[in-house]
Amino acid sequence: MNYITLRLILGDQLNYQHHWYKKNNDDVLYVMMEVRQETDYVKHHIQKVLAFFASMRHFANHLSEKGHHVKYLSINDKDNLQSISDNINDLIQKHKIQKFEYQLPDEYRLDEQLHEFSGKLPIEFEAVDTDHFLTSRYTLSRFFKNRKKMIMESFYRQMRKDTGILMNNNKPEKEKWNFDTSNRKKWKGEVELPEWPVKTKNFSDIKKEIEASGITTFGNADADKVHWPTSRDEAFKILNQFCDKTLPYFGAYQDAMTEKSPILFHSMLSFALNTKMLHPLEVVKKVEKAYYENENVDIAQAEGFIRQIIGWREFMRGIYWKEMPDYANTNFFNHKRKLPSWYWNGKTKMNCLKHAIGQSLDTAYAHHIQRLMVTGNFALLAEINPDEVDQWYLGIYADAIEWVEITNTRGMSQYADGGIVGTKPYISSASYIHKMSDYCEGCYYKHSKKTGEKSCPFNTLYWHFLDHHRDKLEDNQRMRMMYNVWDKRKPEDKNKILEQARKYLDDIENL
Ligand SMILES: Cc1cc2nc3c(=O)[nH]c(=O)nc-3n(C[C@H](O)[C@H](O)[C@H](O)COP(=O)(O)OP(=O)(O)OC[C@H]3O[C@@H](n4cnc5c(N)ncnc54)[C@H](O)[C@@H]3O)c2cc1C
Ligand code: SF4
Repeated sequence: MNYITLRLILGDQLNYQHHWYKKNNDDVLYVMMEVRQETDYVKHHIQKVLAFFASMRHFANHLSEKGHHVKYLSINDKDNLQSISDNINDLIQKHKIQKFEYQLPDEYRLDEQLHEFSGKLPIEFEAVDTDHFLTSRYTLSRFFKNRKKMIMESFYRQMRKDTGILMNNNKPEKEKWNFDTSNRKKWKGEVELPEWPVKTKNFSDIKKEIEASGITTFGNADADKVHWPTSRDEAFKILNQFCDKTLPYFGAYQDAMTEKSPILFHSMLSFALNTKMLHPLEVVKKVEKAYYENENVDIAQAEGFIRQIIGWREFMRGIYWKEMPDYANTNFFNHKRKLPSWYWNGKTKMNCLKHAIGQSLDTAYAHHIQRLMVTGNFALLAEINPDEVDQWYLGIYADAIEWVEITNTRGMSQYADGGIVGTKPYISSASYIHKMSDYCEGCYYKHSKKTGEKSCPFNTLYWHFLDHHRDKLEDNQRMRMMYNVWDKRKPEDKNKILEQARKYLDDIENL
C-alpha cells in the first residue's frame, strides 16, 4: 500500500498526546523500530532494553487501535535493516512516500543523524516538536545570555513564574522559593516504606527475543525485580500512588539511603517522563493539587519535588543543548583511571557501593543520592576517567537518555565540565554517607577510622582529591573551608592520609 507521509517515532517519543495523533489520516504511515543502532551504542542493562521495547510495543498497539497505520519493526523482524536511516530509506521506496517527518530527537547524536539524513533525501521532509518539554532547546541559553554563571535556582524561579506553579500573585507560595533545608532527614524506620509502585512484570517473551538477536546486555531481569511502567495508564497509576502515599515524605527523606529499600520515598517517574508517556506539567500540576488538597503534603515536600521537574530537569536539558557536542569530551581534572571492575558486579567490601551497585544491577534503578553521593562520589574521588563513568551511567539505568544522563554525570556528579552545572564538586567523606544511611553499620570498613586497617576509603580519598586538585579548586569560595581544615592538619597527619589514599588507589580492584 502507498502512503504520502512517513512519520518516525523514536523509542523515547511515546507521547500519547502528541498533536500528530489528533487526527486519523489514511495517507500517513507511522514507523517505530527496535534497532541494533540503538541497542548497541553503549552496553545497556537488560531491563532498560526490555522496558523500552515493551513500552514501544504498547504504544504502537495503542496507535493501531486508534485507527492509525503503524509499521512496527521488532528486533528480529526479517525486514529490519537495524539502522534508522536504512529502514526509512527502505520504507520510502516500498510505499512510494512523498514526505518524511520526524519529531526533534532529544539526543545530539540522533539529531545530527536525522538532520543529515533528511537533508539528502530526494523528497520533502519536516522536523516537528515533541510537545513534551516546558522550555525550548535554547530557552536556557537565552535566559543566561548576559550572565556569568548559570545558576539553577534563578532559572527555577523563572520557571515557577512562567508556569504559575506554587505561585500566588507572582509571589512564591509561603513566601519562600526553596525549602531544601527542611529536606535532610535520615530514615530510621519511623515511617513505613512504600511498596514498588508497579507490580513485578514478566517480560520473558521479549527477553527471549533480545537474547536471540545477539544484543549484549548486563544486569538482572529476574521476574520479581522488573517494575517499569510500560503504558500511560501504568505511569498514571505510579503518579497517583506517589501523590497519595509517598509525597508526604518525599522531601524530608529525599537524601536518605537505606539497605531496606531501593526507592524509599522517591517517585520512580523518570522512565515514564523520559519516554514522554507523562508530560512534566501534568506531573507537577497533580503534585501541586495534592499540596492544596491533602493536609499531609506540606510545602517542603511539594516544592522539593516540583523543583526537580521544572527546575533541574529543564535546566539539564538546556545545558545539554547549549554545551553539546563539546560537553561529551569534558574532563576538567584530566582523570584517567579505569572504572573498577566491581562497578559491573557489585563485588566490593564497601557496603554503600556494594548496595548501590547491587541494587542498580538488580533493578536498573538507584535514587539520586545513591547516584550522586555513593557511586558518583567514589568515582570522582578515585579519579576515574569521566568517559568510563558516563558509559556506566548511560548503560545501567532504565531512565538514562544522554541529555539528562551526561549533564548529571559529567556535570553534577564528576565536575568534569569545570563548573557549568554545579558550583563545586559533590564530594564527601564517610561522615555524609553515615549521616544519611544505614550502610556503614554492616560495612567491612570503619566509617570513623581515618587511616590504617579497615579505615573507610572515602575518608582518605576525599583529602587526596582535594590535595591533588588544589590548583583547580582552592580559588572556589565554596571550597575555602575545606582547604582551611586541611591546612590546619599537621604535615605528618597529611602524609599518613595521602599515603593511605594512594595505597587504596593502587589496590582499587580489591577494595
Ligand atoms: C550521576 C547521575 C546520573 C543521573 N542520570 C540520570 C538519567 O540518566 N536520567 C534521569 O532521568 N535522571 C538522572 N539523574 C537524576 C536523578 O538521579 C534521577 O532523575 C532520579 O533518580 C530518578 O528517580 P525518580 O524518578 O524516583 O526521581 P525522584 O527523586 O522522585 O524525582 C522526581 C523527578 O525529578 C526529575 N529529576 C530529579 N533530579 C533530577 C536531576 N538531577 N536532573 C534531571 N531530572 C531530575 C526526574 O525526572 C525524576 O523522575 C542522574 C543523577 C546523577 C547524580
Ligand atoms: S564505612 Fe565507608 S565504605 Fe563502608 S559503607 Fe560507610 S562510607 Fe561506605
